Amino acid sequence: MAKDYYATLGVRRDASQEEIKKAYRRLARELHPDVNPDPATQERFKEITAAYEVLSDPQKRQMHDMGGDPFGGAAGAGAGFGAGFPFSDIMDAFFGTASASRGPRSRARRGRNATIRVELDLAESGFGTTRELVVDTAILCEVCQGSGAAAGTHPDTCDMCHGRGEVSQVTRSFLGQVMTSRPCPQCGGFGSVIRHPCQECSGDGRVRTRRTIKVRIPAGVEDGTHIQLAGEGEVGPGGGPPGDLFLEIVERPHPTFERRGDDLHCTVSIPMTAAALGTSLTMETLDGPEQIDVRPGTQSGQVIPLYARGVQRLNESGRGDLLIHVNVETPLKLDPEQEELLRKLSQLRGEERPPGKFAPGQQGFFSRLKDAFNGR
Ligand SMILES: [Zn+2]
Ligand SMILES: [Zn+2]
Repeated sequence: MAKDYYATLGVRRDASQEEIKKAYRRLARELHPDVNPDPATQERFKEITAAYEVLSDPQKRQMHDMGGDPFGGAAGAGAGFGAGFPFSDIMDAFFGTASASRGPRSRARRGRNATIRVELDLAESGFGTTRELVVDTAILCEVCQGSGAAAGTHPDTCDMCHGRGEVSQVTRSFLGQVMTSRPCPQCGGFGSVIRHPCQECSGDGRVRTRRTIKVRIPAGVEDGTHIQLAGEGEVGPGGGPPGDLFLEIVERPHPTFERRGDDLHCTVSIPMTAAALGTSLTMETLDGPEQIDVRPGTQSGQVIPLYARGVQRLNESGRGDLLIHVNVETPLKLDPEQEELLRKLSQLRGEERPPGKFAPGQQGFFSRLKDAFNGR
């Protein structure tokens, strides 16, 4: 047997739509969860809303009059707040807001994250380092311990919203009276007012300071890497938890090496004769001087790898490689004797007329040049 919704709303069985509406509005204002948050009242509010939902709809009202359950389920009206019941529609129509009770907001909020840039040279980023960093930040106010209230005082309950943090306003609209809630202008939604703010922090609960922290930067970081130091950011207002501190790595360019991931690249120029005859040279690497063997017949653009002479891999074992790109330099000026020698060499090698020496099927150097001019 369904409930007697007429009794719920306190109206006669032959009440007009207008009377039903009036009765509901009167009860709803009294029992609204924003006004009266206790569970029993909220339950009652649901009941009157269910009653109104039925009695304001002629079809459902008729079903109810005939002893049926307009919500269609086996359970009573309480279960009717499931799918399809336009509970919040009704709430919105009457109150302009949904039913969720917000309550006063906390003064304590999480502090902001902070980012500082840390410039490193290649050896530091590649192998890790320890840095002392000076950080401008906010820390908890020692005097009030974050409460913002002067010593020996407490924040007072706001007399405008009585600690709820929001105020409701009833205005007239075409729907009748509409109740809207907004954050309390006197306390800013906190529900309490600090009448005597802490002198040290002006009521913010934190003070600005400069502190030095020691951070370990792991090997293998690179330009743009962010290191998160949890809880090392600013303390929040009202004694809220601190945010995080982020270190943004900026890698200073190295005069010799270009870093690509864990590998290092550099270019070494050697004379044509050294490339042809082979040579050895000493190079300053991140690990100190290193002897490099250039084999006879080395071509321009050839890469000589020095394995595991790159930077340390981040969070992994092992190192990248050092890759030496060879650039073979052709002499710009020859004295008569050098020219004579080179001519002799070219004769000996049968290279006076280069096109003839290219492999069958391959276009010669000169014909390729011609094609380029003809736009092919
Ligand atoms: Zn303080
Ligand atoms: Zn207030």
